[in-house]
Formats: sequence, structure tokens, C-alpha cells
Amino acid sequence: MRILILGGTSEARQLCKALVAQHAYHIIFSLAGVTHSALPVPTEMRIGGFGGVNGLVAYLETHRIEAVIDATHPFAAQMSRHASDATLRCRIPLLRFTRPAWEAPPGARWHFVSDIEQVPHALGQIPRRVFLTTGRKDLAPFMTTPHCYLLRSIDPPCLPLPPRTIVILARGPFALDDEIAIMRQHDIGCLVTKNAGSDATAAKLEAARQLGLDVVMVNRPSLPPARECTTIELQ
Ligand code: NAP
Repeated sequence: MRILILGGTSEARQLCKALVAQHAYHIIFSLAGVTHSALPVPTEMRIGGFGGVNGLVAYLETHRIEAVIDATHPFAAQMSRHASDATLRCRIPLLRFTRPAWEAPPGARWHFVSDIEQVPHALGQIPRRVFLTTGRKDLAPFMTTPHCYLLRSIDPPCLPLPPRTIVILARGPFALDDEIAIMRQHDIGCLVTKNAGSDATAAKLEAARQLGLDVVMVNRPSLPPARECTTIELQ
């Protein structure tokens, strides 16, 4: 069976490895190409967008793909919607790998917002020291806010930065002690994060809880219905 995996998460790579090890599938692993340092997978890899839904349909037909696994990030909504539309048009199955969302532990100070544009409103107008972990591409809403930002991303941000922003480059997994240390070192008062649900980046939430910090949590975008799985273990 020829399967296209839409990657972009550590779980997508793990899933790819598990399926390749079955020796029953021909796997093609696809990445958008947003990070400069793509980690290797033990199969054929293609990099770059397909050119919208029509491009994806053409790709699926040309490469005789028989099933698609959408293992993109929960916030890669455009790719997930395109995968849904294209597999419907090609009449092939779609399986979506979805990480369970994070849930607030007792005593945590989480404030939920529906999208990144709502974060400045949640932060308020009194200047704060904010740990921004929502990615290097979503900076526009913060450009005119009064806060100081510690921005963590895998690759250097290429857009103009909000004023008073310090950038640190790092890729998870992150350890709890390190997260507490970095929040203390930068005198952070508030953590901003998308509800990615990844174990590799969850330590910041426990660090914020232990330090009594506010967390602004961006809820996930809604996606079209699809058959979903939440664990990689094969039956
Ligand atoms: P997006 O807005 O849903 O996708 C934008 C465009 O990028 C898509 O329309 C598609 O281009 C291309 N694309 C995305 N994923 C692709 C894939 N796996 N293979 C080929 N093309 C892909 O997604 P995004 O938020 O820019 O994220 C891009 C990638 O980074 C995703 O694979 C995602 O898993 C990963 N990522 C995203 C986040 C996040 O917070 N959004 C965080 C960590 C990792 P065409 O329309 O030309 O096909």
C-alpha cells in the first residue's frame, strides 16, 4: 500500500519509523520545509507545499497514493483541511493522528483564547514579561503591545520582531528544571502557548504552575471530521 504521511511533528517521524518497520507499506514522508533542520526519516522524503488542494490531488494521483495520514501539527489547519478535501476528491482514506490536548492541572492559572489574535487582549495593557512559545511566524499580533517578550523558536525568526524581544533558539524536548531556570532568569510573569499537546514541550506548563505564573493557552483550530487516532502503537 502506498501511503503519504504529512509530517511536521515528532510523532509523525515515530509513526513513519513504525510503519516502515512493518515492511508492508511504501511510505512517502512529506514536510512543508518550514524548518531548516529537518530530521531524517527511514524512507523517501519530499519537501515543500503541493500547491493547494488541486496540487495535492494531482500529487496523490500521479504517485498512486492509496491512503494519507495527516500527522501535521494540530495548528497546521490549512494542510489538514487540504488533506481532507483532496482525499475526498480522490476517494482514498484519510487517517488523522491527533495528539491529545493539554488540560489544566489543579492550581494552574490558564486563560483560554480562541486564536493567536486574542492573546494581546488576554495579556492586558500593563507591561509584562512574557515567554512567547507560539512560533516565529505568529508575531504580528504582538507588534504594538507594551510587553517584553522572550521568544523561543527552532529557527531564527525572519519577520520584524515586536519591540523589547529577546530570541532564544532551541528545539525540544525541554526538561522541567531548565524551564524553571529560564523563566526565573528572565523574570517571566506569563507564558503564552498554543495547545500543541506535545510531551516534548509540556514541561513549560508544569514550570509555570510551580512558579505561579499565568498561562495564555491558544485553543486548537477546528478541523473537518476525519478518522482519528491518538497513539502510535500498531495493533
Ligand atoms: P499550514 O498553515 O496548515 O500549511 C501551510 C501550507 O504549507 C500548506 O497549505 C501546504 O502548502 C504546506 N504544508 C504544510 N504542511 C505540509 C506538509 N507536511 N507537507 C507538504 N506541505 C505542507 O501549516 P503551518 O502552520 O504553516 O505548518 C507547516 C508545517 O510545520 C506543518 O507540517 C506542521 O506540522 C509544522 N508545524 C507547525 C506548527 C504550528 O504551530 N503551526 C508547529 C510546529 C510544526 P500547499 O498549500 O502549497 O500544499
